[in-house]
Amino acid sequence: MGDLLEKYNQANNRLILLDYDGTLVDFKRVPEEAVPSIELLDILRRLSSKRNTKLIIISGRNQKEIEKFVGELPIDIIAEHGALLKKQGEWKKLKIDIRQWKEPVLAILNESTMSCPGSFIEEKNFSLAWHYRNAETGYDQSRKLLNRLYGMSSSFHCKILDGNKVVEIADDEIGKGKATKDIIEHDDYDFILSIGDDQTDEEMFEFLLNHPEAITVKVGEGNTKAKYQLENVDSVVKLLKRLL
Ligand SMILES: [Mg+2]
Repeated sequence: MGDLLEKYNQANNRLILLDYDGTLVDFKRVPEEAVPSIELLDILRRLSSKRNTKLIIISGRNQKEIEKFVGELPIDIIAEHGALLKKQGEWKKLKIDIRQWKEPVLAILNESTMSCPGSFIEEKNFSLAWHYRNAETGYDQSRKLLNRLYGMSSSFHCKILDGNKVVEIADDEIGKGKATKDIIEHDDYDFILSIGDDQTDEEMFEFLLNHPEAITVKVGEGNTKAKYQLENVDSVVKLLKRLL
């Protein structure tokens, strides 16, 4: 990432796409506790007010939660992996019909929750998430769950995301890759920085392979389509500070 600053300083129109959980803030036992620090909010505010710089938070969280964390900032926000978009202060929903797969998937998730104490289901507008961060047998149960879901997904228009202590089933039509495509098509950026930590961000990195100038960064270990990797949330915050 040696010449990142040089590229950033020379650019005429910059785009910064940041995932939230596991990228800007560390995971908490309870998702509602992943509140941004005053320092982080200040960094994001200053970054978004830089000349020719568009900063977008691109999260899998629902609209209400992500709005509570970063809604006070004058930035665009993407919630539910692209199903909802806040642009110039107004939230808009994609028109998607998920009724077909929601019922059968919910039934399977309910079974997993029953046999795995500590796990819980989150119902969003366009996806269902099964969280197991507080469940002792969560990982083993999640592998069983994934097997069942992979078996049924081909007959429905949904995709399965093996996230960080969460299994999420989302509509085929949505994803951070498609959301990124929509953003880029609307403007001409000569600097793109995209940072994220889990499988849902890989769609964003993959799409950005078409844009050789994009600087894609995965937070944490593991295989990735991103060009670079950073160790943890602290290293992301350090990097953002250098852009101020
Ligand atoms: Mg994340």
